[in-house]
Amino acid sequence: MGSDVAYNFIFKVVLVGESGVGKSNLLSRFTENKFTLDSRTTIGVEFSTQTIQLGQASIRAQIWDTAGLERYRAITSAYYRGAVGALLVYDITKKPTYESVERWLSELYDHAHPRVVVILVGNKTDLESNRSVTSEEAKHYAEKKGLLFVETSALESTNVEVAFNNVVSEIYRRLG
Ligand code: GDP
Ligand code: MG
Repeated sequence: MGSDVAYNFIFKVVLVGESGVGKSNLLSRFTENKFTLDSRTTIGVEFSTQTIQLGQASIRAQIWDTAGLERYRAITSAYYRGAVGALLVYDITKKPTYESVERWLSELYDHAHPRVVVILVGNKTDLESNRSVTSEEAKHYAEKKGLLFVETSALESTNVEVAFNNVVSEIYRRLG
């Protein structure tokens, strides 16, 4: 018995943050190891899934992307509903995307699962010379708000797996 069980848990994880910060590329890097320079590329699906092994447990992460709706602030409560994890992404070279993190956070807490695990993700570390948000200030903010924190580059494939794996393992840890 049990040999046909593909996974033990399904976790819904949502991607949030301003348009252009790299959410769709983080997702495609994680699930397909693909990156695209075209910012207008729309992912035609609402979510992608990836199975993550944590010890004995097989966890299916169902990761939802905004499909460009964040641009119009048209993300509905259905998007957040039942989400137990979130990657809140900003662009380390664009301060306004970091300044709007607070707004995304309150939207998340209004609509997602009350105990949603959030990881703050500073993306585009390959553009270090254009950095406008220091690691220290973001890390400090994350600690203050009780968020996990990581900096990534979807382009260079830096810390992308770490970001998704950390949020999923923290959700799993809080179950036990
Ligand atoms: P979204 O609107 O948040 O989904 O952002 P996208 O994934 O569509 O990315 C927006 C733009 O930023 C695209 O031109 C991507 O190629 C680019 N981009 C995404 N991630 C990175 C990264 O890590 N480094 C660099 N240099 N560009 C990135
Ligand atoms: Mg996108």
